Amino acid sequence: MAIHILPPQLANQIAAGEVVERPASIIKELVENSIDAGARRIDIDIEQGGCKLIRIRDDGSGIHKEELALALARHATSKISTLDDLEAIISLGFRGEALASISSVSRLTLTSKPAEQAEAWQVYAEGRDMSPVIKPASHPAGTTVEVLDIFYNTPARRRFLKTEKTEFSHIDEVVRRIALAYPNVAFNLQHNGKLVKQYRAADTEQMIEKRVASICGINFMQKAIKLSWQHDDLSIHGWVAPNALQEQLQYFYVNGRVVKDRLLNHALKQAFLETCKSSVYSTDETLSYVIYLDLDPHQVDVNVHPAKHEVRFHEARLVHDFVYQAMIMALNTQKNQALPQND
Ligand code: ADP
Ligand code: MG
Repeated sequence: MAIHILPPQLANQIAAGEVVERPASIIKELVENSIDAGARRIDIDIEQGGCKLIRIRDDGSGIHKEELALALARHATSKISTLDDLEAIISLGFRGEALASISSVSRLTLTSKPAEQAEAWQVYAEGRDMSPVIKPASHPAGTTVEVLDIFYNTPARRRFLKTEKTEFSHIDEVVRRIALAYPNVAFNLQHNGKLVKQYRAADTEQMIEKRVASICGINFMQKAIKLSWQHDDLSIHGWVAPNALQEQLQYFYVNGRVVKDRLLNHALKQAFLETCKSSVYSTDETLSYVIYLDLDPHQVDVNVHPAKHEVRFHEARLVHDFVYQAMIMALNTQKNQALPQND
């Protein structure tokens, strides 16, 4: 075969392999877009574990009529324009791939109205048809993305979809993760017409703790040690529970993005080892935690993995020691509080 450039549809379907694994990954991408658009309320409706329908509605900034069709194109993004922007990234998205990928393997409708635009507009992109048509629609300020029939045109991938129950549990986990990261955003998750999860917007410390407890369980909150420290432009807060819980919860957020990282686990464990040599904590226990680390975006590379599950710290040692110190302090504070008061 002679060398040739792949048609855009096929190129998008190949790219979709990296980010669209199952309904839950579509929900992750769409909810992240809503967060990036500054939404305060996000409604997620799904049918049949998301395989039949996913509908995400937000009250965010919306997309202008002139940009609707463009939003579906590959490498189309409003979030960066230069490498410098990428290095200072604070939004969750930047690759401009999600809508193009999702619409290449489903029937996608995007409806949007920026607050300042008089009417809403809608664009419909069905898998094989790459030239989307736009038409007027009715919609309040914000955006709705509707995704029907995932993988209808890629049967080989459709076969990998699991039962409704399994797909739902992946979706539930994605929503839990993001609801933990953005307590000030309200989330409603509806499955087959029934409201199954509701996270109300939390703006006080108490309400935030309530949300964490509703996601991680009262048991976790009761056992957890609270962590909170800031130094220069590094800041950390969250909860760490040492004792074996029934299920292991590990949520680590870097600048609002959930990531997998061994550095954190290592730093926390070392602090436990150091502080609790002879105490109640046995060292081979796994830790459960919800930790939020915020740092200068220049200090972390998020463009490591297409699904952005990993990050690289430029000064990994420094971050490690910072987390370690924060945990040591939290443990010492806890120890002192546990001692009987002499007065
Ligand atoms: P990325 O998020 O990497 O920019 P996407 O393909 O996910 O790429 O989205 C493309 C563009 O469409 C975004 O940059 C944004 O401008 C716009 N967009 C997508 N979803 C929304 C939304 N819910 N609200 C407002 N704008 C959106
Ligand atoms: Mg995106």
